[in-house]
Amino acid sequence: MSTVQGRLRIAVQKSGRLADRSLDLIRDAGLKWVKGHNDLLYRVENYPIDLLRVRDDDIPTFVADGVCDLGIVGENVLEEGRNGGPNASVVMPLGFGRCTLKIAAPPALAYEGPASLEGLRIATSYPKILRRFLDERGVKADIVVMRGAVEVAPRLKLAAAICDLVSTGATLEANGLGAKDTVLESQAVLIQSPVAPEPALQHLLDSIIERMAGVVSSQGAKYVMLNAPRAALDEITAILPGAGSPTVMPLSGRDDAVAVHAVCQEAVFWETLEKLKAAGASAILVLPIEKMM
Ligand code: ATP
Ligand code: MG
Repeated sequence: MSTVQGRLRIAVQKSGRLADRSLDLIRDAGLKWVKGHNDLLYRVENYPIDLLRVRDDDIPTFVADGVCDLGIVGENVLEEGRNGGPNASVVMPLGFGRCTLKIAAPPALAYEGPASLEGLRIATSYPKILRRFLDERGVKADIVVMRGAVEVAPRLKLAAAICDLVSTGATLEANGLGAKDTVLESQAVLIQSPVAPEPALQHLLDSIIERMAGVVSSQGAKYVMLNAPRAALDEITAILPGAGSPTVMPLSGRDDAVAVHAVCQEAVFWETLEKLKAAGASAILVLPIEKMM
């Protein structure tokens, strides 16, 4: 049973890299709230749901323990937080908060694969993930746990290499380090508690998940409409990126051409439009999709 009677709880990062996008997703799923004096808890007005705003490190535990029914957190934090007990399960990747946990070192370190780390000291904020990476490759190395500023460890001679999150690589470069290997590719994920909600809230929980899935899959998706010569129909549908079976309709007064409507799951670039045009398409319209289910 969830701890608050009659209400679901969603754990989100209070402030930081995932905070805004997490709230955007929840808002796009149709939930409304007003920011009250209570900083920890946002009360959703149109559904019996509360948003619990916490440090991202706490989110996996809150969801695993059933204190929250759902949570939004980076895979890196979820993996690092895993323990022997019941864990939160991943419902779906959310497509934002992308970053990579990498091994990095000064150029002087000759790196020819994980074996090059044998016997070295490696600084990281992700000791569990790094230990597993090393164990799986049969590498013995010392791990120095640092809460932050991991990138300064080699300069301070605290460690020969680091294992840290990288998105652009600018921080590594500024500290004279180069990326050597990838330990984990990460993005934000929706996680769900192994503890079932009160039966009366199960339907709401399922529908919130379904709506979020709709929001995520409609991101980047486009609705494409165009006119195509019948003779070029196959060629034109093959060019449409990530379209299932498009709708093909007659055009009044024209036997040689049809109207084609398709949902494209992938980005539609100018290059795609140019190819469509070259294949004979005309009156091409690309529209954003607001909701999809
Ligand atoms: P909190 O105060 O909630 O503990 P934090 O400082 O641990 O915040 P942030 O820096 O806000 O965390 O990052 C949150 C998450 O964003 C990371 O765990 C990771 O999943 C993701 N992320 C995306 N890009 C990066 C990046 N370049 N560096 C670090 N994290 C990133
Ligand atoms: Mg944190």
